[in-house]
Amino acid sequence: MVDKVQVLPYFFGNITREDAEEYLRQGGAGDGLYLLRQSRSFLGGYALSVAYGRQFYHYTIEREMNDTYAIAGGRSHRTPIDVIDYHSQESDGLVCLLKRPFNRPRGTEPKVGPFEDLREQLIRQYVKQTWNLQGSALEQAIISQRPQLEKLIATTAHEKMPWFHGKIEREDSEQRLLRSSHVNGKFLIRQRESNGRNVSYALCLLHNNQVMHYRIDKDRAGKLSIPDGKKFDTLWQLVEHYSYKPDGLLRVLTETCPKPSHNSEQGATGGILSRIKSYSFPKPGQKKSTENPYNIRSNIRGELPNPNLLNTDALPMDTREFESPYADPEELRSTTVKRSDLTLEDGELGSGNFGTVMRGVYQMKKTQKIVAVKILKNDDNNAAVKDEMLREASVMQQLDNPYIVRMIGICEAENLMLVMELAELGPLHKFLQKNRHISMKNITELVHQVSMGMKYLEEHNFVHRDLAARNVLLVTQHYAKISDFGLSKALTEEQNYYKTKGPGKWPVKWYAPECMNYFKFSSKSDVWSFGVLMWEAYSYGQKPYKGMKGNEVIQMIERGERMSAPADCPPEMYDLMMKCWTYKQEERPGFSVVEPRLRHYYYDISQ
Ligand code: AMP
Repeated sequence: MVDKVQVLPYFFGNITREDAEEYLRQGGAGDGLYLLRQSRSFLGGYALSVAYGRQFYHYTIEREMNDTYAIAGGRSHRTPIDVIDYHSQESDGLVCLLKRPFNRPRGTEPKVGPFEDLREQLIRQYVKQTWNLQGSALEQAIISQRPQLEKLIATTAHEKMPWFHGKIEREDSEQRLLRSSHVNGKFLIRQRESNGRNVSYALCLLHNNQVMHYRIDKDRAGKLSIPDGKKFDTLWQLVEHYSYKPDGLLRVLTETCPKPSHNSEQGATGGILSRIKSYSFPKPGQKKSTENPYNIRSNIRGELPNPNLLNTDALPMDTREFESPYADPEELRSTTVKRSDLTLEDGELGSGNFGTVMRGVYQMKKTQKIVAVKILKNDDNNAAVKDEMLREASVMQQLDNPYIVRMIGICEAENLMLVMELAELGPLHKFLQKNRHISMKNITELVHQVSMGMKYLEEHNFVHRDLAARNVLLVTQHYAKISDFGLSKALTEEQNYYKTKGPGKWPVKWYAPECMNYFKFSSKSDVWSFGVLMWEAYSYGQKPYKGMKGNEVIQMIERGERMSAPADCPPEMYDLMMKCWTYKQEERPGFSVVEPRLRHYYYDISQ
């Protein structure tokens, strides 16, 4: 939705109400002249400014709980654009009909407010410091979890702001404000005694050497306001608003009163943007060792249930499997695992034609890691199978992405063993078959993560050649990893495809026409398989082309027919599958196109 509104010529972004009036004046301020801007009070909301009788009227278009939009108390519509279309036909409470949009002057882009900039900065810092991530892991975390992170930031970010002093007494707040500089407008927010669920805050403001206390209440809908004041979704929007105009306060907010733990007594001045610079996030690792429940893994030898399974809300970054095992160079210097450092546990995770996969504990230098161990059965000492496993290991060794099962190392002992990251919830198709309650949004989140892993493979010139829901393993309900690189190949710079001498024992239903006809494999043929994987995911793990033989499937594809959409599959996602099943590989999109399409759809439904 955000994207669609952004491109409207009459959307001005984060401008103030005064700026909106000035623009409408420039446009002649004829009755019914209007423009759209971003709400500065409500997350995801908009404001409609209308001229009528040489006056200006402003209406908030709020985003409602069920993702519809409405002017307070008015009819609900699917999008803010629908609200405007409706009021072009019916005034229905507005001062007049919307007659003519006022478009942005040439060369003017919608204004990005400090709120958006701040959000970007906050998300970055939050991820960096909460999970101690940097570089590409940081980027991958933000891309895949943006909707969740935005919500987290919006509702909890105030706790990390220098102006938020937590639960302190009124007298304490006065002492803090009167310490050192007595600049008018110096302020802090404290949490008041809460009775049960009703949290309330106080805005404490220095005015002519006196501290004024304004109560901030939360109404039933969770909106925050000082008595009779404007309502806001978050404390930081409230602070931003009163930093820009007094609007009922004795003066505007100017300077943050530092918390005593902050060394610097000089609160930063200016808008929130500059104030955030004085915020101190917890020290790297601090959150991990104290608050992150997943760290109990460091002492376990498997007797405890996997904490990933206890918390279905866990973000991928909360798990041990997000961070690269190669991140600490002191831990994993070689890819050889000593048998004495590896303990195998009872019970199989799964099996394949090479042997079994067991759960194990790998004793590293500093910590223990719960791992999956692929054990080659050496009944008949089959050299070909051993070679295959070593080839798989050599491919995996070259890959390092949070959405791909990483290899920890090879252990040559009583059997040849491939030690990997553990994805305990197992294959995607089986998980979905057993968990029909999983939402479309959740499925889209997982499928998007797979596309991120595949985009990484495409960028690094690897073809997977066995992409299917059975080869996507889940770490948690919200975290998928691509596995099984047994058929994968590295491509050369010169040749962007891999050609086999002839057909093999292939997963035909997942293969693109050029694989079957010319034995040619490329990232584009992986895209075809990805389309089938999407179909499997949106049909909750059903078998594709059910009841059909491989030959029948090939003929069906050659006839130009494709599988129909799974029941309840979002049309946007079926459309994307169909794009993945474009017959000619030159016309088929690559993962560099598929991933952003999935990403935007996912963000859209997650707002
Ligand atoms: P594969 O032949 O590699 O597909 O592995 C066979 C089965 O073993 C899979 O379907 C999974 O159930 C299980 N498995 C393989 N790798 C892992 C892993 N890294 N974590 C958890 N289970 C795994």
